[in-house]
Amino acid sequence: MTSDIKPQPGIMEIDLYEGGQSTIEGRTDVVKLSSNENPFGPSEAATEAFRRSMHQLHRYPNTHHLPLRTAIGEVWGLDPERVICGVGSDEILTLLCQAYAGPGDEVVHTEHGFAMYRISALAAGATPVSVPESERVTDVDAILAACNRKTRLVFIANPNNPTGTMIGGNELARLADGLPRGAILVLDGAYAEYVEGYDGGADLVDSRDNVVMTRTFSKIYGLGGLRIGYGYAPKPIIDVLNRLRGPFNLSEAQMAAAAAAVRDVAYMEKCRRENARMRNWLAEALAEHGVPSDTSCANFILARFADAEEAEACDEHLKSEGIIVRRVGGYNLPNCLRITVGDEASCRRVAHTVGTFKGRRQ
Ligand SMILES: *Cc1c(COP(=O)(O)O)cnc(C)c1O
Repeated sequence: MTSDIKPQPGIMEIDLYEGGQSTIEGRTDVVKLSSNENPFGPSEAATEAFRRSMHQLHRYPNTHHLPLRTAIGEVWGLDPERVICGVGSDEILTLLCQAYAGPGDEVVHTEHGFAMYRISALAAGATPVSVPESERVTDVDAILAACNRKTRLVFIANPNNPTGTMIGGNELARLADGLPRGAILVLDGAYAEYVEGYDGGADLVDSRDNVVMTRTFSKIYGLGGLRIGYGYAPKPIIDVLNRLRGPFNLSEAQMAAAAAAVRDVAYMEKCRRENARMRNWLAEALAEHGVPSDTSCANFILARFADAEEAEACDEHLKSEGIIVRRVGGYNLPNCLRITVGDEASCRRVAHTVGTFKGRRQ
């Protein structure tokens, strides 16, 4: 029987997003290094604000997000009028695709770019276009060569997930300036806070009309379970996105916790320092065991193995020892495992376990 009931074109091409595994059957002592979460969790100020908000659960939240946008603006030097908050930065990416791309339009992303770019493009009926990287680094010339009159959006995560690499401000500016008219450059700054002195591309947003930045509370702020992120864009783009955004997309609890988190700059800086210290340690320890990686600018390492078979075998061995990392075959990196930088004990445990695995295969 054939049905006349059909979804919009593109939707059935979407492969469901798979979150990082979080449990192993029969084990309680699991170390989860599969979702780039902050091993120290959120600032206490954030959990305290969340707790206080429970007295207002019967009230609708505000629709304008002003206290949160003000906090973000003050801390990062952004114009609150050009900030939009969403249910994770994922919602901002989705709104951008819905607003600016449809059937016949193209949405460009890099070869090993974040899976949500393709998903959001297909959900809007647009055509995702994957562009090669150069040795796992965003290649501005390749992106510019892939752009044409149909290009509406170009998504770059900087630093990128799952490669951990990033490109500099001059390259970003060259990309923004080289895009065809009518195309928007989206700089996904999910890991921007891990790079000291990097503004995530905010400066480019301020100086151009075709650049949007997204940020999240899911990574350095340790609030992945809360689901909150934001975008920073030229006013005309913000005005468009606000028409599509659900008026009550965020609860008071979400906004209160996020505002407290962003204001706790000292805690964020402490997390950045500790991440850098353990990331360098882990990269070196893995290299000593014969597992190289590119220099990571984020809170994870893309560990490279000889081939897909070795990466899978190592993943199995890690699981048997209660350690969950992320396979990235779905990102076309079957010979790699993405390992989140955990606390010191977790880093030592994962390095030791990779070491025994490699030792056995000599
Ligand atoms: C984790 C991540 C995000 C964050 O998504 P949220 O919806 O804010 O949790 C966005 N982009 C990239 C590249 C990521 O890795």
